[in-house]
Formats: sequence, structure tokens, C-alpha cells
Amino acid sequence: MDSESRINHVIDLYQEYVNPGLASVMRFAGFGDVEESATGCTVRCVSGAEYLDCLGGYGVFTLGHSHPHVVAAVQEQLTRLPLSCRTFFNEPMALLAEKLASMAPKGLQYSFFCNSGTEAVEGAIKIARGATGRTDFVCTVGAFHGKSMGSLAATGRELFRKPFDPMLPGFVHVPFDDVQAVADAIGPNTAAVIVEPIQGEGGIRCPSDDYLPGLRRLCDERGILLILDEVQTGLSRTGAMFACDHWGVAPDIMTLAKALGGGVMPLGAVMATKDIWDKAFGENPLVHTSTFGGNPLACRAGLAALEAIESEGLVERARARGEQMITGLRRIQAAHPDVLVDVRGMGLMIGVEFAVEDYGELSINGMSRRGVVAAYTLNNPKVIRFEPPVIITEEEVDRALKAFEEALIEAAEMLNGM
Ligand code: PLP
Repeated sequence: MDSESRINHVIDLYQEYVNPGLASVMRFAGFGDVEESATGCTVRCVSGAEYLDCLGGYGVFTLGHSHPHVVAAVQEQLTRLPLSCRTFFNEPMALLAEKLASMAPKGLQYSFFCNSGTEAVEGAIKIARGATGRTDFVCTVGAFHGKSMGSLAATGRELFRKPFDPMLPGFVHVPFDDVQAVADAIGPNTAAVIVEPIQGEGGIRCPSDDYLPGLRRLCDERGILLILDEVQTGLSRTGAMFACDHWGVAPDIMTLAKALGGGVMPLGAVMATKDIWDKAFGENPLVHTSTFGGNPLACRAGLAALEAIESEGLVERARARGEQMITGLRRIQAAHPDVLVDVRGMGLMIGVEFAVEDYGELSINGMSRRGVVAAYTLNNPKVIRFEPPVIITEEEVDRALKAFEEALIEAAEMLNGM
């Protein structure tokens, strides 16, 4: 089959057997190609086109694609013991749990491993309920915690929740970055507050400096747990190992996924303090389990990813490249203030907000035609996110900025000419 027939065949199969609506959306956004291979910040497609990845798999590819240290670790494990028998002790899981405890915010000691962000949040909800004996959660409007039934109840967007009502009871949503609103929402049955340190899908919303410290104090005073969802922000993305490190706040429970698998394996984790763990799992260590969670391949990938994040200084690199990107985007905003209303973010978790949604849609398409991949934030389509691999070079950041500005000018001309 020639490459064009191959591409059409795959899109037809999406249309017939995967998700026809999604196939249309992807084509419209300018992603009507089929991925073939990827290394570093570059994705190659069947058509022969190459793309600079400024989306980074929504935060998965912090280490870039096919990082050699992670691939080598997984390959070695693959030939020996890909999956656990689940009867004997599993060495990669033990080593990864130890490593995470050594890096995590103060007090977080135990880890439960799973395969995705939503499962990590499900684990956090169960641990909080199990440890406190209480059932309710305070969450935030615009939050994204996943789409399985527990995490969906915590997710702060009606569009995703409404078709599946009734939700798990006991979840209330208050505005983000408002400690008083959380205080007012806490009731006698509240187990925990769950927030993302920076709202990702809500539109890359950074809190004011007193938000997380304020939540920490409030939770301590009222005897409830603080759950931080670091699925997207964790592991160097924001220019700190964990976003909560920016404010010196340690949660009682923390979720991780995305970058944890090194961009090679699916891997999630929920961590908690010893006290909470003992209360949640003390009576029955099998109260929360997963057949594939913590499998040796994923844990070897995780361990290698954490080693590479440290040895390659990715926290510092996210800060430096983030500053370059935000400075460049602010310059573009100053030149086009009617089109771009805001540029915000920390490290390489950056959002640009358009005056109207259509500019964003057309700009994503225009960037894709210029060989750069970007996407919206899921709960706020006026915002395009830039979350490239943290290993991105200075030259690649410049290339992304150039493509963005050209696409934005083209989008504005198209819309203004209508
Ligand atoms: N939590 C946060 C903060 C996320 O950004 C996401 C995904 O974008 C999730 C949870 C859900 O992760 P997954 O898609 O792996 O289930």
C-alpha cells in the first residue's frame, strides 16, 4: 500500500470501528496523518511529514519520545520478566517506590501503582475515604481529574459529567484559587480537598501564591486531607520536581501519571503518608489492587525516567526553556493584543488564551501545516497549551514561536476577512 492509501485506510478504520466523531475532529484540526515513529521532540508520520511536538502527549513526553535510557531499561526487562506473577516480590516496583519516596514532598512514603492518571485519582479517593471514614470531597470548577466514575465526580466540567449522572455522591465544586470558598464548602462529612496545583485542562490556570499554603493550613485546622493531583504538573514539567514545591506545600495524598512512565510505558501512582496508609490499608492490605498496576516493565520505565529527570537536570531546563517560551509568547501577544488576551504558565506548562475560540482552532491547524503540534486545554477551548518535551532545545522553541505567530496572523486574517 502506498502512504496515501495507508493513511486513508487508517482514517476509514477510525471512522468505522474506533470513533467517527473523533476522526472528524482530528482531520479538522489538521492531524489527518498517521504517526509512524518518534524520537526526542520529533514525530514522523506515514506521509513523510515531520512535526515538532509542542503538546508532548498532554504532558507524557517530558523526556521526549523514545528516551534511550528508558527504552534500554524496558528492553532489558522485556526479555526477562515483562509481567509479574503476582505471587513473589517484584523488585522494580520496590525500587521505584523507594525512589519516589526519596524525591516526593515531605512525608509521602507509600506508593500504589496503576496504569493511568484516572486510576491514580480513584486510588486517592478510596484512600481518603478509607483513612478518614468520611465520604465527601471539595473539588474545583474547571478541574480535570480523569473520566472514570470516581475521578469524573471530581472533574469540574458539566459537559463530561452530565451524560453520566448520577455521579458518585458527596463531591462539591468551588471556584479555583479561592481558599474561603473551600472553607465554606467543608462539612462534617468532608474527607478531603482535591486540587491540581496548576489547573491544566481548565486552561493552565496558576494560583496566587497564598492558595496552596492557605489550603494546607485550612485542611490542618479542620482535620481533613489535602490531595494534590500532580498527574500533569509533576516530575519537572513546571520548573520544580512537583508543582507544590514552588510553594513549599506537602499534600497528604498525591497522584502521579503521564511523565512517570518516561514516555515509554503507561504508569500511574498514588502516594500517601504512613499514617494515612496505615489507616486505609491496615486492616486489609488487599482492599485496593490492580492486576497490571506496578508491572515490572512499567516500573523499570518509571525508575529510568526518574533517574534521567535528575541526571539531565530537567527541572532547571524546564525553567530556562519555559522562560524563553513565555517571553516569546508575550512578545507575540503584545504585537496582537486583540487576538491573544493572555499568556500564562510555569516552566513548560504554558497556556495562551485567545479572544475567541475560533482563533485557537485555526491557529492549531495553521501550526500543524507548519510542522508544529499543539492542542487545546480540554475544559477551556479558548486556551492553546504548549507542553513540549522538557528536553526541547533553544532553537526548537524559536521554531515553535515562529510557527505560532505565522499561524495566528493567518487565522486573524481569515476571520477578519469573513
Ligand atoms: N489528573 C490530571 C491533572 C490530568 O491532567 C489528567 C489527564 O489529563 C488526569 C488526571 C487523567 O489522566 P488519564 O488520562 O491518564 O486517566
